[in-house]
Amino acid sequence: MVSYQERVRKIIEEFGATPISEKLYKELEGVHITFRRRLWVSHRDFDVILKERDFWIVSGRGPSEKIHFAHLILFDTVKAMQEKFGVNVFIPVSDDEKFLFGKASLEKARKYAIENLKDILALGFDPKRTYILIDTYHMHPDFYKFTVQIAEKITGSMAKDTFGFTDSNNVGEFFYSAVQVGHILYPTLLTGKRVLVPIGLDQDPFIRLSRDIAPKLGLKKPATIHMGFIRGLRGEEKMSASRPETSLYLEDDETVKRKIWRTLTGGQPTIEEQRKYGGNPDVCVVFEYISLLEKDDKKIEKIRQECMEGRRICGECKEYLFKLIKEFYDRIRKNRERIRLEEFRVLSPEVIS
Ligand code: SF4
Repeated sequence: MVSYQERVRKIIEEFGATPISEKLYKELEGVHITFRRRLWVSHRDFDVILKERDFWIVSGRGPSEKIHFAHLILFDTVKAMQEKFGVNVFIPVSDDEKFLFGKASLEKARKYAIENLKDILALGFDPKRTYILIDTYHMHPDFYKFTVQIAEKITGSMAKDTFGFTDSNNVGEFFYSAVQVGHILYPTLLTGKRVLVPIGLDQDPFIRLSRDIAPKLGLKKPATIHMGFIRGLRGEEKMSASRPETSLYLEDDETVKRKIWRTLTGGQPTIEEQRKYGGNPDVCVVFEYISLLEKDDKKIEKIRQECMEGRRICGECKEYLFKLIKEFYDRIRKNRERIRLEEFRVLSPEVIS
């Protein structure tokens, strides 16, 4: 498996992404805590699009049974950017992808898509500025026409090179490449405006393909920003939906506390040793999550100092993390009860014109 550092290196050195400069981070610090905590690693044309100011954000979702902390943090950042920059957001949900890649039946994938979308929208997206699309549910003839035009530009060998497909992948997986590029470029097709796509490092191949295809169709290239991994509960490189033991799900109600209690820390084996030698917040997953939820930098610094000087024990941090997670999740759960998908428009030529 490719390590996190190697992925970052490849994206920057081999695929031409630009590391996020301190100057850019400074501009974004007030937008969302993830920028202040330097969670984002690289970008393509993010600085350009910020100067233009008139753009859309595309942030898609491959639906899964449950949505977890890392997904929510990414979408929470998107929502904050919508507020800060006053831009439209398009959230396409690819239930077809889940089916084609053998992850769920079509019925289950569609159900996950609806439930995940409600979770995401409950973060507080503005219905007037947020557009949705569940592939097998809402696909508009014009969107299908667009994906066919995109598919004509993607050869089998391009799909193999970009995604590592082989002859044993089904033809739907090959065609899905065009659907995903279609999601990314659809707002540009409809409005002429450029899009920003905040993504995890793993999804970069779709951006590279979209930036390759866009000029061939007379469209502006999408900009992107890559979010670094949020580690799993036991210190895994990445929180993963396919490994429940690594993740804090929105659905985890009673189990959240138990999971937090088992989360990897940088503490010593005993309280006595912790008091004597102090802990290491830099390797501590509990501290990592706290710093993504606690906006007060002074509190974060205080925890760090107390930990290193042995004046804090891990149980205190775990209690505190539980409180922060509960507040974050309770807010989403409460909003979710009021979410009606009908209040959000499906992106199509009709709603734009
Ligand atoms: Fe992590 Fe807190 Fe323990 Fe330090 S005291 S290692 S920050 S949980």
